[in-house]
Amino acid sequence: MKVTVVGCSGSFAGPASPASSYLVSVDDGQRTWNVLFDLGSGALGPLQRHLDLHDLDAIFLSHLHPDHCADLCGLYVWRHYAPGGAVDGRLPVWGPEGAASRLALMYHGLENGGMDKVFDVDRLHDGATTTVGPMAITARAVRHPVEAFGFRVESDGAVLCYTGDTDTCENLEPLMKDADLVLADSAFVDGRDEFRGIHLTASRAAQAAVAAGGVKRLVLTHMPAWNDPEVCRAQAEPFWPGVEVAQADAVYHVGPC
Ligand SMILES: [Zn+2]
Ligand SMILES: [Zn+2]
Repeated sequence: MKVTVVGCSGSFAGPASPASSYLVSVDDGQRTWNVLFDLGSGALGPLQRHLDLHDLDAIFLSHLHPDHCADLCGLYVWRHYAPGGAVDGRLPVWGPEGAASRLALMYHGLENGGMDKVFDVDRLHDGATTTVGPMAITARAVRHPVEAFGFRVESDGAVLCYTGDTDTCENLEPLMKDADLVLADSAFVDGRDEFRGIHLTASRAAQAAVAAGGVKRLVLTHMPAWNDPEVCRAQAEPFWPGVEVAQADAVYHVGPC
C-alpha cells in the first residue's frame, strides 16, 4: 500500500501545502487501484502530479468542511467539460449524510442536479466497510462539529488509519489499533486552543495512538499554517518518541506491498 500526501494543511490551504487530501494506491497484480481520501481546497492541482485523473477509482470524504471537499468542483469540471469529451461513467464518492445535495449546491445548484452526472454519491455509515478493489475501507464516526468520519484502510495485511478531523473519542481505538501508519489530526495546540470536540492536539493524538495499541508509525497532520510544527511535534514527543509531521508530497509505503 502506497500513501501519498497530496495535501496536509489544516483548515485552509497553506503556503507549503494544499488542504487535506491523501492518495492510497494498491497494486493487486493486475492493476493499481487508487482511492482518494478527501479533496480539500487546492489539492486538485498537485494531485495531477501524482496521478492521471482517469485512474482514480473512488473518493471518500471524511466530512463536508471545504478544506476536505472543495476541490470536487474542479474535478467535476475536469470530468465533465474536457475538450475531448466527458469521462464515461460516474466516479463513486462516499461521504456523510447530505453530501450529494452539498455537492449540488457547490456547483450548479440543486435545481440543475448538481454534480450527480459525474459523481455517484453514497452515504457513509459508522462501522460499515466498503470494498474498492483489494482495499477494505471501514468508516467510523468521529468527534467534530459536523458529521465526520475517520477511515481504516486494510489491504493484504497493511493497515492505514486516517482520523479525518476529530477530537478524542472512543472510535479512535478501532480506527488506530495495530495500524502500520496513522495520519492523525493535530490542528490544535495545547495551551492555545482550549475548545473541545473539534480537533486533536498533537499530544492528544499521540495519547490516542498509545491507547489504541499496536500502532507502528504516527504522523501528525492537518496543521494550519499558523501552527509551528516543531511546537506540535514537541507536545507529542513525550507520549510518542520519534513522532513525525506530515509534509506535502511525502510518500509512505505501508505494510508488505
Ligand atoms: Zn479540516
Ligand atoms: Zn473539519
